Amino acid sequence: MLSSARNGQVLVIGSANEDHVLTVDALPVPGATVLAGSSTLTAGGKGANQAVAAARGGADTAFVAALGADDRGARLRAALEGAGVDTRLVGRRPGAPTGLAVVTVAASGENAIVVAAGANAELDADAVEAALADATPAHLVVVQCEIPVPAVCRALEVAGRRGAFAILNLAPFVALPERALRAVGLLVVNESEARAALGERPGAAGRAVDDLAPALAARFGCAVVVTLGARGARCRTREGRDVTVPAHPVPDAVDTTGAGDAFVGFLAAALARGADLADAARTASVAAALSVQRPGAQASFPALAEVDAVLATNPAPHR
Ligand code: AMP
Repeated sequence: MLSSARNGQVLVIGSANEDHVLTVDALPVPGATVLAGSSTLTAGGKGANQAVAAARGGADTAFVAALGADDRGARLRAALEGAGVDTRLVGRRPGAPTGLAVVTVAASGENAIVVAAGANAELDADAVEAALADATPAHLVVVQCEIPVPAVCRALEVAGRRGAFAILNLAPFVALPERALRAVGLLVVNESEARAALGERPGAAGRAVDDLAPALAARFGCAVVVTLGARGARCRTREGRDVTVPAHPVPDAVDTTGAGDAFVGFLAAALARGADLADAARTASVAAALSVQRPGAQASFPALAEVDAVLATNPAPHR
């Protein structure tokens, strides 16, 4: 249960993993053993990343997730709390290990990732419903798809029933039932997720990028943001207005891990403050651009003051 719902609170529902990042000269072939040049432990998972980003973006943020009762879970909880995220709705599943991702990165930049969902797979629909019991129209509910589909669907349905604004980041892409999608107020996807959601086959000639957000809005009946990496983002507002948000130029993209999560979290935080979609996307785009200039995911997310300083020196290009 939410015990301290306030105006404009962001409620993120999703995954939390510890990422073990190994750097190698080349990815091992089957049967081979290679030595890593470095190994680092970082807090990750799309849900946790977006909760941290929303908090950095200035929103009163609570996170709904499942962790194991292990050291990994304790470290992740501490990272969330250190970022100012309310973790009272983060449950413990003593029978399951906390989510773990082993990320092997080659010198070429290629990577291979193995994820053990662990406790994330035990975030069940009833637990999500209980966590949202006090959600109100003042809440923005943010959900992604690294938790079981029934939990995603229940989050959207309960958010809709309680009049909260639901943001769905359809990442990674999964086909969701119509009933759950009807509750979505804002869909956020990258280009490949957008094409998958529109039923385009990978590799087949598809729509022009400018046509993706309008097509998704027509299909799902909600506002849409399509993120396009260094090409920025395209928005279709609820009123049917198309807005192009250019990427904030960066001299050197060091690590794009978590850029999409920075975007979603800062977008939600700006919407919670009452910004319109175009302004919120512009704030999110600057936050994501700052994040790609630093290594890591959560560690790379800027503070709102840094984002505001950049925005203050740049006129709104989308107007
Ligand atoms: P993506 O998930 O790759 O679509 O990226 C999400 C958002 O991060 C984009 O819409 C941009 O705002 C930002 N972004 C990603 N890569 C870059 C980059 N190389 N330079 C500037 N901004 C970026």
